[in-house]
Amino acid sequence: MRRLVGIPPIYGHESPASWLTRAALSQGVEVRELMAYVGLPVKHDPDQTLVGNALWNVAHVTGQAASSFGFAAHMFSGVRSIDPKGEDLLLWTKNGKPRYRYCPLCLHEPGCKYFPLHWRFKAWRWCPLHDCLLGERCPHCRCELQLPGDMLIAGLKREGVAHLGHCLQCAERLDTGWESTPHPLMEGLVAGWEKTVLENGRALLAAIFHRHFFITGNAKRHSLNSLTRFKKMGVLPHDLLLLSNQSLQARRSQRNATLRNHPGFYGGRSAREK
Ligand SMILES: [Zn+2]
Ligand SMILES: [Zn+2]
Repeated sequence: MRRLVGIPPIYGHESPASWLTRAALSQGVEVRELMAYVGLPVKHDPDQTLVGNALWNVAHVTGQAASSFGFAAHMFSGVRSIDPKGEDLLLWTKNGKPRYRYCPLCLHEPGCKYFPLHWRFKAWRWCPLHDCLLGERCPHCRCELQLPGDMLIAGLKREGVAHLGHCLQCAERLDTGWESTPHPLMEGLVAGWEKTVLENGRALLAAIFHRHFFITGNAKRHSLNSLTRFKKMGVLPHDLLLLSNQSLQARRSQRNATLRNHPGFYGGRSAREK
């Protein structure tokens, strides 16, 4: 089999689905064609199938070091050990395709745009780098984000997109409105339990990475397997968190209105009146 040239390397935290999407563009082909060529089953979730022999084969054909896929393989094999099909931990569209959230501020940063694998996890609702909620849908066409996808023929007129900062359905930018994105912790817009649920995303990923975890206030080390038991007990209530950037923006305007009307309410006059 001919080895492919010019395939971009996978980034350290990038998801296999994101990398395949970019790699297909680099070859000027649709992602299904690339997946078939490198021996990945086209109808299956590549985040979960890029392991073992398949991984070695993909690395060989695409001219990459097998070790460059190490982080993704380690994380998704951790998922498989407690949730074999990824139904509980990973995001899916209604018709069973791999789904992603995105951080508009990460995508706004200069440099190559890609989707880190954290954005695939149900529990990863908040970006700790930017203290903001992740977007669930494209801000323009309201479509959910599905990866891998085709950059070459993205957009309603199949005009294509140059990078993953664009929606693959409508080709518009995903970072639109980044400047008004609420920062829930810094702005004090969330209650204590909501903050805990937001931070659970990071705790879950750390547990999968280390294959064990601790419960606050207790020195006992729990194996990753016991996570499913804790989940059944409702310790990971990320399904209950109904926060969105719209609801945070509403809380922010309500708080600003309170400050304007009752300047003494938050202890002292508002900055504007000083
Ligand atoms: Zn971010
Ligand atoms: Zn869109």
